[in-house]
Amino acid sequence: MLYFDYAASTPPYPDVITTVSEVMNRHYANASSIHGYGENAEKLLNKSREVCAKTLGVKASEVIFTSGATESNNMAIKGVALRYHSRGKHMITTKTEHASVYESFRFLERMGYDITYLPVDSKGRVRVEDVLHAVRKDTILVSLMHVNNETGAIHPVIEIGRELKKQHPKVIFHVDGVQAFGKIKVELAHSGIDLYSISAHKIRGPKGAGLLYVRSGLELAPLLTGGSQEGGVRAGTENIPLIAGMTKAVRLAEENRSELYARLIPLRDRLMEEILRYPEWELNSSPEGAPHIVHFSYPGMKAEVILHTLEQLGVVVSTQSACSSKYTEPSRVLLAMGKSEEAARSGIRISLGDVHTEEHIDQLIHALREMKKRLVNFEGWNR
Ligand code: PMP
Repeated sequence: MLYFDYAASTPPYPDVITTVSEVMNRHYANASSIHGYGENAEKLLNKSREVCAKTLGVKASEVIFTSGATESNNMAIKGVALRYHSRGKHMITTKTEHASVYESFRFLERMGYDITYLPVDSKGRVRVEDVLHAVRKDTILVSLMHVNNETGAIHPVIEIGRELKKQHPKVIFHVDGVQAFGKIKVELAHSGIDLYSISAHKIRGPKGAGLLYVRSGLELAPLLTGGSQEGGVRAGTENIPLIAGMTKAVRLAEENRSELYARLIPLRDRLMEEILRYPEWELNSSPEGAPHIVHFSYPGMKAEVILHTLEQLGVVVSTQSACSSKYTEPSRVLLAMGKSEEAARSGIRISLGDVHTEEHIDQLIHALREMKKRLVNFEGWNR
């Protein structure tokens, strides 16, 4: 079986598994305890924070450890909303954000906040000028994803960060960097980005661990109240084994980033070429997008039928994003890109990782061809 669902989750590096298990065995003390065991756990926590910060080019005090990017995104969006509401209650995002961002805004809308959901172009990108035009006197936050988890489309976050800071310096800028980190370069310290979310399990780290970069000077209202852990922004005993495992993955992801990018681009481009050979299929990713995601639709055919046919043929892919794949709704992302409802119900995402080679792509292409042959005569069309 070949696994092509790296955008949903990745196998942890063996070194990460060893680290998590060793730290569970050796550093079980509470990092807040003042005895020697606690101090050792705290030392490891501090060291992990320093390594993550150094890798991201930011200060250790600017790294908050979380349980994953869903929490990082909630913390950023709701934390800003609750802390800065006296400045205004308007926030800006797009129609194609991950559920953890989109649903956070929907929640705030119900609480009386005013949210602008910007459109995207046919390639899934928000326009810089649309973001700038949407800013009002009462705007407190802009939140965008760096790389879209369904299509791999890249929002111009660097340009937006620069212009926002020039034209509207008080507006806070959050970026969901989950699908970008380890693939696309970002220099946080000079980017105009105030908040950046990362998830460990997308970069071969453990599940249940993530971080949020919070630019110094910025305050967030805590969502979890209790102890004074994580600078008082996130109460709860720190999960040091997962934090140590994530730190390994963060370092490796950044060290291997440019080599991985160079290796994935030709593999991705071969896949795109193959998909373009079928006039009935629609390619929803573009060469300007991320190196690891190729998304296509087979309008009229249900995505689950395609997925299970491919699985019988030995390859594992995804419908929509993993977080939304159990819904029967058409993809919100594809609809926002102007695709038909049929196309939005038949989307397949293939996502690549560092383990993939030319031979894996040969096998995947073979499976795609075989799937097409089988489904030509299939009775279960969606029509
Ligand atoms: N944002 C994006 C773009 C994602 O792809 C994901 C994972 N599907 C998340 C946020 C949520 O991350 P986590 O699984 O760590 O909660």
